[in-house]
Amino acid sequence: MSANAKILIVEDEEEITTLLRYNLEAEGFVVFCASYHEQATKTLNENLPDLILLDWMLPEISGIELCKRWRKNSKTKNIPIIMLTARGQESEKIEGLITGADDYIVKPFSMLELIARIKALLRRTSQKALAEKIEIGEIELNLDTHRVIRAGKEIHLGPKEYAMLEYLMAKPGIVRTREQLLNNVWGSDVFVDDRSVDVHVGRLRKAINKGFDKDPIRTIRGTGYAFDEKFDK
Ligand code: CA
Repeated sequence: MSANAKILIVEDEEEITTLLRYNLEAEGFVVFCASYHEQATKTLNENLPDLILLDWMLPEISGIELCKRWRKNSKTKNIPIIMLTARGQESEKIEGLITGADDYIVKPFSMLELIARIKALLRRTSQKALAEKIEIGEIELNLDTHRVIRAGKEIHLGPKEYAMLEYLMAKPGIVRTREQLLNNVWGSDVFVDDRSVDVHVGRLRKAINKGFDKDPIRTIRGTGYAFDEKFDK
């Protein structure tokens, strides 16, 4: 975690903003403030923060609504958000988490606790960003290096087989049709027929199962393929 992580505070109560800014800057954070939605959106467009502190009760558009919007936006969807809520919003707090906030804290809060939560959340998210891999059971796929390891053994795959495995492993259990595989692995503007998908799945299976009994790829007759969600069971 960078000591100079950028935090955007969206809060319309000036006293709280001042207090937050003072304490967060003392911790070494770079702080931006916005008191309503348009200002927050403008700040987000200019400078993407590492974390957002978002007040629930804002004029015009509530914090919850803003949170929903930001989660739908590809630019802002992964920014960790801590919601500031008022006491007595117990049931709404749950709604807040469902709509995509990563954490919440009830006002009036202890500054020490808030700072601890901010640091914990930044640690969690930066670790997640570093761990660019998918691991299911004994199969591990590194998204940066495209290396595939099964039970400690490196599996050599061609680029199409790798892309196919990554696509299937991203959503275990979800059936991908041949058409989806074609579009995702070859691109929709390339002419390849369904048979090619089967041929490449065959190659993928051969490479990944060599020396192993369990096949992680399920064939769904007449439809397509899936990475077996029970593979690690
Ligand atoms: Ca408020």
